[in-house]
Amino acid sequence: MKQNVQITSFVKQAAGQAGFELAGVAPVHDFGELDRFREWIAAGRAGEMQYMEARNDSGALQRASLRSTLPWVRSVIVCAINYNTAQPYSTDVDDPQRGWISRYAWGQQDYHEAVLERLRAVEGKLRGALGGSQTTDLQARCYVDTGPLVERVYAKYAGIGWIGKNTCILNQKLGSWLFLGVILTSLELEPDLPAPDRCGTCTRCIDACPTDALVAPYQLDANRCISYLTIEKRSAIAEDIRPGMGHEVFGCDICQDVCPWNRKAPASGAAEFQPREGLVNPALEWLAGITAEEFREKFRGSAVRRAKRSGLRRNAVIAMGNSGDRRFEPLLEKLKTDEDEVVAESAEWAAKRLLSEAPPW
Ligand code: SF4
Ligand code: SF4
Repeated sequence: MKQNVQITSFVKQAAGQAGFELAGVAPVHDFGELDRFREWIAAGRAGEMQYMEARNDSGALQRASLRSTLPWVRSVIVCAINYNTAQPYSTDVDDPQRGWISRYAWGQQDYHEAVLERLRAVEGKLRGALGGSQTTDLQARCYVDTGPLVERVYAKYAGIGWIGKNTCILNQKLGSWLFLGVILTSLELEPDLPAPDRCGTCTRCIDACPTDALVAPYQLDANRCISYLTIEKRSAIAEDIRPGMGHEVFGCDICQDVCPWNRKAPASGAAEFQPREGLVNPALEWLAGITAEEFREKFRGSAVRRAKRSGLRRNAVIAMGNSGDRRFEPLLEKLKTDEDEVVAESAEWAAKRLLSEAPPW
């Protein structure tokens, strides 16, 4: 037991040296939140994110059944790094010519790689410290988003933060601008205590969500969430949702921007999280007209690639429709005949909306 305490403390120290602000350990357990994940999937609230529904050999949902999916895992090391930078919040900008890319995607490097590199550094130090047969016997796997577990549930039980009513992990000191990474390990480490819920009576995130995607506290319907729709959804977005999308062109930060715990969130100095030029509050005209080559160049190694060029252009066109700025009319007329059918259809909708709606700004 004493040795496990020492190894646990070594791991946390190694995480700090690798650049993580927070690190904790969760045991492997059938936490109650995993039942809610199962219910969420069963209710169809994951939209088209089929990877969420992957099943293990026993037919159980992988992400909710770590114990049966990877029976050798004894402890989950959860690490978190702050990606907030000293830039405005989406709710503080209102230039109708410009859109909003989610804060997490501005960085120089795709966060998956930035976090994975650090996790591997921690794993390497752990292997080095164990030595001898313990290293040979050690099983460990590092994951960022792709592991067979619901990361935020383990983050809660590792003491990183509580799961807020907006479904994000929130830390009392750092807020919710956190990238999470996990190391699944066969080591029996000393678990941390779960972080207490500090949302209290606040409902700001639920009240601010423009598409009513937070259907109840702690419950997100991805089918209505701008973050899911602008990034993961490939085809046309339902028309009744489009007005609520406002200026969001990749992801959505609203339910985090309004959270009081984020108002004093510190900014990170990590070079890889500093914004690429032009991505904070980008010009809609630029995004709607971005060429294949420019998209490849500008977003090489960026999280924005996930939306694909077609999705990003579609989103920019919808944002033009929501802008109330009639200077977009000639461009939308042109885009109505775009070779990309989804863009053309969105332009048709956006042009009509511009003519029919009073400007929101
Ligand atoms: S990300 Fe945006 S759309 Fe999704 S729940 Fe938060 S505020 Fe609503
Ligand atoms: S806005 Fe309020 S209710 Fe929502 S996550 Fe933040 S503290 Fe919790």
